[in-house]
Amino acid sequence: AMTTALLCQLQMGDHVVAARAAFGSCRWLTDNLLPKWGISTTTIDSRDNDAWKAAIQPNTKVFFFETPANPTMDIVDMAYVCGLAREHGITTVVDNAFATSVLQRPMDFGADVVAYSATKLMDGQGRVLAGAVCSSQKWMDEVLLPFQRNTGPNLSPFNAWVVHKGLETLELRAMRQSENALKVGKFLEARVPHIMHPGLESHPQHTLAMQQMKACGPIFAFSVDGGRKQAHALLNGLQLIDISNNIGDARSLMCHPASSTHHGMGPEAREAMGVGEGLIRINVGLEDPADLIEDLDQALKAAGL
Ligand SMILES: *Cc1c(COP(=O)(O)O)cnc(C)c1O
Repeated sequence: AMTTALLCQLQMGDHVVAARAAFGSCRWLTDNLLPKWGISTTTIDSRDNDAWKAAIQPNTKVFFFETPANPTMDIVDMAYVCGLAREHGITTVVDNAFATSVLQRPMDFGADVVAYSATKLMDGQGRVLAGAVCSSQKWMDEVLLPFQRNTGPNLSPFNAWVVHKGLETLELRAMRQSENALKVGKFLEARVPHIMHPGLESHPQHTLAMQQMKACGPIFAFSVDGGRKQAHALLNGLQLIDISNNIGDARSLMCHPASSTHHGMGPEAREAMGVGEGLIRINVGLEDPADLIEDLDQALKAAGL
């Protein structure tokens, strides 16, 4: 979905401004794929409104970002950034995978194109790989469809059916998982040295996040001071929560981005975007939060925390 949303509208000589903090494969698109076709990119700290402005060039065609970002939970000020894009005739592409349309509607803040990994919260049970791209009818007909029809990134009927079944319960799951994530986040906040949770006041962009989102969503991140070794010890101590790279799932899942989702980009780029060796990402599911807290408590102890 992200590849299609970008490539359908870009051509050689164009320029993209993209958020530095992003899902590993989204960063791969801007760092590795687009330059191969002569499309240059500037990656910036997406939390910094001035950085968006400063990165604009005469040939800038697209702004591309996630909010909250995977896995650093950076928040983009959508009203400002989308407004700035409008002024300069730039198209904004928002990857709304973390929130989905239930929790956040980027077009209300001026976004032009909203794209999803439907593999995540939309499916909600880790069954299919799917994506979606949304925009105005005109953009879909004139820009997206010619690309999609001729290159073929389409869902199989069965996978489309599975995602449709997921959408029937999306609102209930997104709201309950947000509630659970807040409870688990409050517990962890008192036990770990750093936590990046848009629903907690300790998040430096908490106010902005809550202005843009109906609830905090199921995903947040935290870090331990003992680096990869302690992070892995914590994950290996889990009994109820599974180690998995998926998010948005109805089951609670945790992963260590530096050795999984963001492994491919190398330590320097990881450090620059805030993905340290001690960072852990959690997706909070529909289990009883008391059970999740009990599991985390014993795993933290096993990891010496
Ligand atoms: C997982 C993810 C993707 C890619 O999704 P797939 O469905 O796994 O291809 C894109 N963006 C974000 C923010 C993600 O979390």
